[in-house]
Amino acid sequence: MMIGGQEWLRECALRLISDEASRAATRFPPFNSHHEGYAIIKEELDELWDEIKTKECDPTKIQKEAVQVAAMALRFLTDLCFKEAAPE
Ligand SMILES: [Mg+2]
Repeated sequence: MMIGGQEWLRECALRLISDEASRAATRFPPFNSHHEGYAIIKEELDELWDEIKTKECDPTKIQKEAVQVAAMALRFLTDLCFKEAAPE
């Protein structure tokens, strides 16, 4: 089945986000609390904002930071919201 342009872009973005979340999971323990998850997402969001504000405004660096924001939001869901639903 062929997928359209927007769907293809979404699949590419989701792959990057999933890979980044997996990479983070090998380096850091799961989030322990909503407060911790929020703080880490905010840290990544602040890094994205810092990158946006630079004069060079490098699209590659902005993409990298945006992926990290989304990856931390994904970890928030998997570590804190969906944990109970995980199969044994
Ligand atoms: Mg970052």
